[in-house]
Amino acid sequence: MATCVLRAAAWFSLPSAAAFAALTLFGPLSLTTAVIAWGAVVALSIPLVRPIADGVATLTDFVHREAAGDRPERSGLGAALTQAVRVLGREWRQRGAELEDALAANEAILQSLPEPLLLLDEAHVVTFANAAARAVLGLKPVGKDLVAVLRAPAVLGALEAAAAGEDPPEVTVELSGETPRTFAARFQALDRTESSGGTTVLVLHDISEMWRTERLRADFVANASHEIRTPLSTLVGAVETMQGPARDDPEARHKFLAMMQDQAGRIKSLVDDLLSLSRIERSEHDAPSATVELANVLELARGSLDWKAEERSVSVDLDIPADDIAVIGDPDDLRQLFENLIDNAIKYGRGDGTVSIGVRAVAADTLVDGWRARGPAVAVAVRDNGPGIPLEHLPRLTERFYRVDKARSRRMGGTGLGLAIVKHLVSRHRGTMTIESEPGRGSCFTVFLNRAGNGDGGG
Ligand code: ADP
Repeated sequence: MATCVLRAAAWFSLPSAAAFAALTLFGPLSLTTAVIAWGAVVALSIPLVRPIADGVATLTDFVHREAAGDRPERSGLGAALTQAVRVLGREWRQRGAELEDALAANEAILQSLPEPLLLLDEAHVVTFANAAARAVLGLKPVGKDLVAVLRAPAVLGALEAAAAGEDPPEVTVELSGETPRTFAARFQALDRTESSGGTTVLVLHDISEMWRTERLRADFVANASHEIRTPLSTLVGAVETMQGPARDDPEARHKFLAMMQDQAGRIKSLVDDLLSLSRIERSEHDAPSATVELANVLELARGSLDWKAEERSVSVDLDIPADDIAVIGDPDDLRQLFENLIDNAIKYGRGDGTVSIGVRAVAADTLVDGWRARGPAVAVAVRDNGPGIPLEHLPRLTERFYRVDKARSRRMGGTGLGLAIVKHLVSRHRGTMTIESEPGRGSCFTVFLNRAGNGDGGG
């Protein structure tokens, strides 16, 4: 403190020192006198300077303690100065808190984004990863190099393009794991460096579902074309034979015409089923709301297949409860749904066998394979006593063109689309279907539907 006061006094007396120096150089004053006189001025300045130096020291100390959050009760300064320093301190603290809040809110927003998001610094190191990114990447990505995190060297090119202000190419990243997923990696350079040091944002957009749908669509087109090409080739062959070697052979012509009719029928069934599938798919989101008497629908479906049942000597038994059961649905759709199931039971069940159709009420809240009956429902079971279906085929049975025995299905006039149509129809009716089968003893397809006038359906 003393040196501080002395230094201040010396500064204070600097103009006098300059005046004494000038008088010594150009005037009558000797150097000794000038030094003594200046020393006297310094000594006299000390009492004047001390209160100012003390005040500055007290102010410095007070500001330091305020900044450290000590909030001293007495400042040792005047009331106005104390108040001014306190107001200043309060404002700074408030601004600091607001800034922290804004940062926390921004981080919360980034954390809650459903898409994985990473921030990267100039050295390609991850400086921030939101919760979705951590869940997808399954490790602690912060502090690691991006290439090590994504294991896709192609991302570097895109990252550098983004950093150079160019339009970065979209990179596809495959992530292995319990369920392998495909992401489109999108980079965006930031205008300024972010607080964690990040200069580029990387968002991973999940395109697994899109890829899967695309693959399914491509498979479907390939399968449908293949299914049509086979009977078409047979038709072309038959026409050529009839125009050539069999031209004058009435017996062969008769045989080939029958074959052509058969193949044309196959193509027609296939086109009919494809059109049905496309119509049902388009209306699937639009749940039907009519009240349909189940007994009528089942009678009609069974009646339309009488000829087929007779052909295979199969008896189709319908067991409907005495009191009418009405469901929420579309009568034409429901008829097609049960026709397909009864048709399969006749086709793939035992010749001379039995197909039984049973209807039973299902209580509200019943849970079936993840589907819950929100109100009273009904279960319609179509059971046959045929050879059944090996267990490993059951999960894929409703896929388009999936058949257990291709040759048998074709021989029976099957298109491979019947159960896919059933699945979409059941889904349109907000119901569900279970398939049980015991090889050697038969199969049972049970459809659960919501009853009319009770509740608003299952989910
Ligand atoms: P398809 O037109 O071939 O009958 P579906 O989609 O209706 O096509 O059925 C798919 C496959 O499921 C059939 O090819 C058949 O192998 C099997 N399948 C369906 N219903 C039964 C059943 N009741 N018993 C045995 N197998 C069946």
